[in-house]
Amino acid sequence: MSLSTVHTTLSSLKTCQADIGTGMDIVTDVALDLAETAGAENEAGLEKLELMMLDCAKLDREINCFVGVVECVTAEVSNQPETMFNLKSLVKDKFTEIQSRLSDEELQNHNKLVSFKESVRNALKTVNSGTTANTEEELDEDIAVTQSDVNFTCPLTQVDMVNPMKNKKCNHHYDQDAILEMIRNRLSQKKKLRCPVVGCDNTDVKQGDLVLDQMMKRQIQRKQSSMT
Ligand SMILES: [Zn+2]
Repeated sequence: MSLSTVHTTLSSLKTCQADIGTGMDIVTDVALDLAETAGAENEAGLEKLELMMLDCAKLDREINCFVGVVECVTAEVSNQPETMFNLKSLVKDKFTEIQSRLSDEELQNHNKLVSFKESVRNALKTVNSGTTANTEEELDEDIAVTQSDVNFTCPLTQVDMVNPMKNKKCNHHYDQDAILEMIRNRLSQKKKLRCPVVGCDNTDVKQGDLVLDQMMKRQIQRKQSSMT
């Protein structure tokens, strides 16, 4: 096996990982539909979806771990070419060792799983409160509309966000394409990106801190479809 084969395989694994991420976003979207239409009555369905999310999170972590191990081992091998023929077993041993130390509880901290649970919880809360007080709901809606005009605007594009990403550190939102491009630009200059929201003291916006905000994405879509 040559190192270039290794690199090709790694990059296709990363593509696969991106697909898992997209899959997790879709599962979250389905869960929100379910929560909004059936409410807590469909708890079994929601639990199944959460298990799917857990499986995806596990797969995602395995790929991360594997890619990390391969990158580390190939770096060592480049320095000592005589160990090249051992590449496979070196990777296998290290991967098994790291995997055995990982716990299932840690998976609960997976970015997308956390946002899944938070979104579903919020959706159920909204559904449950909506059935009790009608007049209050109308009031809430008025407030929601005024708030939404402010909050849905991306600080970078100055228009409504398409894929709002929430920064876990400072809770600010930006549109996905715009913020990722900005992070890449700063990275290529070896600089950190300061949060573009005026007055925010977060001086280091990292891709790992950003999570797609499915609830907000739906609110924006709803707002736009109500205007057309
Ligand atoms: Zn911020």
